[in-house]
Amino acid sequence: MKICIVGTGYVGLVTGACLADFGIEVLAVDKDVDKIQQLQAGKIPIYEPGLATLVRKTVGEGLLSFSTDIGSAVEVSSSIFIAVGTPPLPDGSADLQFIRQVADSISRHLNSYKVIVTKSTVPLGTGKLIGDIVAQGSDSSHGFGIVSNPEFLREGSAIEDFLRPDRVVIGTADDRALQTMLDIYSPLRRAGVPFVTTDVESAELIKYASNSFLATKISFINEIAELCEVSGADVEVVAEGMGLDQRIGNRFLRPGPGFGGSCFPKDTSALARISRDRGLRSRIVESVLEVNRHTRKRLLDKIVSAFDKVEESAIGVLGLSFKPDTDDIRDSPAIDIVAGLLEKGAKIKAYDPAANAAGRAVLPTVTFCEGPYEVAKEVDGLVIMTEWNQFRKLDLDRLRSLMRTPLVIDLRNIYDPNDMATAGFRYLSVGRATKQPA
Ligand code: NAD
Repeated sequence: MKICIVGTGYVGLVTGACLADFGIEVLAVDKDVDKIQQLQAGKIPIYEPGLATLVRKTVGEGLLSFSTDIGSAVEVSSSIFIAVGTPPLPDGSADLQFIRQVADSISRHLNSYKVIVTKSTVPLGTGKLIGDIVAQGSDSSHGFGIVSNPEFLREGSAIEDFLRPDRVVIGTADDRALQTMLDIYSPLRRAGVPFVTTDVESAELIKYASNSFLATKISFINEIAELCEVSGADVEVVAEGMGLDQRIGNRFLRPGPGFGGSCFPKDTSALARISRDRGLRSRIVESVLEVNRHTRKRLLDKIVSAFDKVEESAIGVLGLSFKPDTDDIRDSPAIDIVAGLLEKGAKIKAYDPAANAAGRAVLPTVTFCEGPYEVAKEVDGLVIMTEWNQFRKLDLDRLRSLMRTPLVIDLRNIYDPNDMATAGFRYLSVGRATKQPA
């Protein structure tokens, strides 16, 4: 069995390496020549824990290879996994141009029955769209099966998530395609992972509904955090008290600057759009998006008002990626908030353990540093934007001695307010009372 993966981004590269690790021969293709050249030279273009090791291992075993030649890869493969981007359009809907391009390429190289699998997150009806494009452009005698197999991996723990998922969803109306998919995933079935087999449309919706629900939890706790700030309650205790209820659970009940990244913002917007296109309203999801926008703005205002004159202040920023253990800054709240501070005239110094390079490209006026203490030097305040582990146990005495003013604004609540006050900081966090130095 040979599998072709189209798109070698976060999802395609992880899927390709993991399927190759199952012992399947995988051809990973991308139209980005530079990316493929890097991969062929053994360089991994993204930061993802464990990925470099797995790619090197499977390439060394002859199971994983890279190419820009989608046509040949399609021709020699029995299954094609589509893992290209589906970025948002200005109206919130998913841009399917890359999906269409791939479907068109497949149609021109369909030389036998093939299973066409969508791993990208796509709106309801995309499986049918792919099927129509492939049918129109190909010799129909070969036949093909359309499958929706949405991916639930999280950046930062992508390999673990792929190899030990909570569930695998397979949506198809084609029995032969279903059997092929069950065969491909047989190592996970043997490991006891639950499988949901359904129709294409339900599988497509499971992905959007899941991400929108998780985003709902985040916006919900952020709304509660704002209420805590004006009423003297502590959101951390409120979240703990809620999360111990097993019907609620504590995951994704973390207050902060709101959700970001390449998935939650675009998938919630897309779900709202999908409903509107069908004459409905996703009232909950629309509110989730509104709360998320409000939260970013509210926390930017909170930072600004922490300084006497923000336009004359030097502000240190720790973390730019939308979450720890990734270099992904797509729709990261940190980038938005830094841009807002720059607009107000603040001078910004920043450090991210993995996203300095990505940050430099979008924030050219920021001074980038090589570590948290370099950031702290002579700043009027420090903002913790991303909860990287290395920011959790900073040497507080050293930090205070380097800073011009001992002010920490912690948007991830990774420090104990009393500890910060004892260490001599004025400390602001999310959904908890501001602490003055003890
Ligand atoms: P990405 O932007 O990192 O990678 C997409 C890749 O597809 C790029 O390398 C691009 O060059 C390539 N590509 C685009 N058009 C192509 C074409 N016609 N032929 C060949 N290659 C092409 O995207 P990603 O983060 O891996 O996401 C891919 C999809 O998976 C999206 O729909 C996303 O919503 C979904 N998803 C992402 C995650 C995540 O955490 N990143 C998790 C689950 C699902």
